[in-house]
Amino acid sequence: MSSYARVVVEIALNREFDYIIPEALRDAVAVGSQVVVPFGKSEVRGFVVALPERSDRNDLREIIRLVGKKPLISGRVMELARWVAEYYAAPVETAVRTVLPSAVRQKNARFKEQLFVIPMDAASDAEAVRRLRARSPRQAAVLDILLSGEAMFLSHLAKTAGTTAGTVRGLEKKGFVRISREAMARDPLAGQTVLRTQHQKLMPQQEEAFALIRRAMDTLAPPVVLLYGVTGSGKTEVYLQAIDHALKQGKGAIILVPEISLTPQTVERFQSRFGDDIAVLHSHLSGGERHDEWHRLHSGKARIAIGARSALFAPIENLGLIVVDEEHEHSYKQGEAPRYHARDVAVMRGHMERCAVVLGTATPSLESWHNAQTGKYALARMPHRVDHRKMPHVRVIDMRLEASKTGRVTMFSSELVEAVRARLARAEQVILFLNRRGHSTSLICPKCGYVATCSACSVPLTYHKVTEELRCHICGAIEPVPDRCPSEECRDPRIRYAGIGTQKVELAAAKLFPKANIQRMDADVTTQKDAYSRILGDFRVGKTDILIGTQMIAKGLHFPNVTLVGVIAADVALHMPDFRAGERTFQLLTQVAGRAGRGDVSGEVIVQTFTPFHPSIQASSRIDFEGFADQEMEFRRELFYPPYSHLICITVRGRVEEQVKFSIDAFAKTLFPMLPEKVVRGEPAPAPLARTCGQYRWQIMLRAASARAVTGPLRTALDQFRWPKEVHCTVDVDAISLM
Ligand code: ADP
Ligand code: ZN
Repeated sequence: MSSYARVVVEIALNREFDYIIPEALRDAVAVGSQVVVPFGKSEVRGFVVALPERSDRNDLREIIRLVGKKPLISGRVMELARWVAEYYAAPVETAVRTVLPSAVRQKNARFKEQLFVIPMDAASDAEAVRRLRARSPRQAAVLDILLSGEAMFLSHLAKTAGTTAGTVRGLEKKGFVRISREAMARDPLAGQTVLRTQHQKLMPQQEEAFALIRRAMDTLAPPVVLLYGVTGSGKTEVYLQAIDHALKQGKGAIILVPEISLTPQTVERFQSRFGDDIAVLHSHLSGGERHDEWHRLHSGKARIAIGARSALFAPIENLGLIVVDEEHEHSYKQGEAPRYHARDVAVMRGHMERCAVVLGTATPSLESWHNAQTGKYALARMPHRVDHRKMPHVRVIDMRLEASKTGRVTMFSSELVEAVRARLARAEQVILFLNRRGHSTSLICPKCGYVATCSACSVPLTYHKVTEELRCHICGAIEPVPDRCPSEECRDPRIRYAGIGTQKVELAAAKLFPKANIQRMDADVTTQKDAYSRILGDFRVGKTDILIGTQMIAKGLHFPNVTLVGVIAADVALHMPDFRAGERTFQLLTQVAGRAGRGDVSGEVIVQTFTPFHPSIQASSRIDFEGFADQEMEFRRELFYPPYSHLICITVRGRVEEQVKFSIDAFAKTLFPMLPEKVVRGEPAPAPLARTCGQYRWQIMLRAASARAVTGPLRTALDQFRWPKEVHCTVDVDAISLM
């Protein structure tokens, strides 16, 4: 038993502090315990991250007390947090904060206490009630509401009656009701009835995949399985049965899904199989709900967690399986420190917990594909759709030809218009996809070439017709729409909009298909609560004929009556200054295409593009992941890009460009000599997004065969280097966004 505890305190300090564990607490303090410790002149809360044998210091102070009995974080999860901090070169307390939701960590987090009001015998005594009515009409009114079955919670009852809790307490004094105090878990899925489903008999391809996963679970040789199955191949059913296998072994499971596909539809599929054994963790829950769901797992009442990124750290003891659905999704990467990738950390947690990890997708990330090719991961393939429904037929439309035919650039090719009309005539549904919101992507003066740009960011402003304004999609700034060129010397009134966004597509579609019900779904529409589920609900029941949207509608949705998907401009993501642009385009096109033909009628996809022969577009038109991967991997290998290297992106930002440039140069001079020779180092350069929110941004890109070759020296350099006060530095290990 150690007499020392290493503690990370709540306040942001990138350090661990040693304390003495007092005699009385020696048996109780464990890694993961929450403790109160003296800190300077005050007392602060912290978490025990390790129990070292000895400490180098002899001026240590004692832990004051322990908070709670069972550690909130298990030793293994704490170990994982420390690994995350180290691997991603992030402050350790940010990692501790990540593994424990604030709703659980906060001082006043506790189960919500609801007071129930329960009618007593006196309430059915007509004579007593008559007297009450005469003497205390307010109390009688409360009783009426309660007896009509309207309300039961004290707070709700008082509110419904338009009175205070005091009135209800008056009723209690007179013996009409009893107020009881009971802790009850808030259930985010309350009020929904979920029908229990049974396991389906697996198809042969599912059977094979399941056998591989079972082997991974039982023997850990190897522990990770990449489940590469086309959309609609039945991956979810395989997950469900694998989870069941874990439960039968007395173990728990975690299912990670991207936030965007964490819809009631998804959650319900798991719930209808496992009921109360499921706890849901995601950011749309209230703090209280999160707290309760988390504790259901912590106490072992629920053994399966489903959630977005951070559910990875769910407090489940004895894990048997972690599933990462849509493992290629970029939203698994956290945008702030620690900038961890949930898929990679899932593999690490699996390793630490000695449990199997399943990575499922229709378009594997090249990182996972590489691991499967080299035998590090087992590979399960499911190339067919369930019931052998056909994959959709994809037609690529060359918009250059379209333009030369009509003499102008059009938004809808004649093929697409015809195809939509045919669907409308047959009462089938259509999805139109464009990964750009707003109306027009820029405002350009044809005379002087002026482009309306955000004053704080180096990006053009997007025109929003619905609200009649210009908006910056980076910082959110809003500006009025000028009626002539704002440039002093020009002032030309012919200033015009260029580039298309979803709003423009919506307007054009309304003109082309006047009888159709059209609905748009993008981040501008879904700012209202419930808009997302309302729009999807309308589409599901057939109230909407055409759904127009951004990547929000590209993923995970299952609408059997959709027989046509139109991609308005496939090139949008292709010309980004990012080596993953091709991969991203391929993934997105394949995912949207997967929305077509999930019912009895086979689907069609029409892809409009100005670069029809681009390899990503060609491969996605054949729904040929492996063809795409072969070609792309070759290019990655030659240029030493991931998955053949780890890419570390250091971004420095500040308001004064000279200062930013000077600091990053100086930092490079400190860091570079410390790096092993084999690290490929880019010189400091302005970031592709050179300015955001008034801050200039410069970057250094480093590539190395192992991330540690860089992060080790990088941490030392960061410790040594003194940044000017107004300059900030962020480190992104295995960076996904290079903007
Ligand atoms: P994916 O997750 O690969 O896109 P799903 O799991 O959503 O595929 O499966 C597509 C459809 O096929 C779902 O409606 C699902 O209920 C059904 N399905 C999956 N497996 C089977 C099976 N073994 N037998 C019958 N239907 C199945
Ligand atoms: Zn801006």
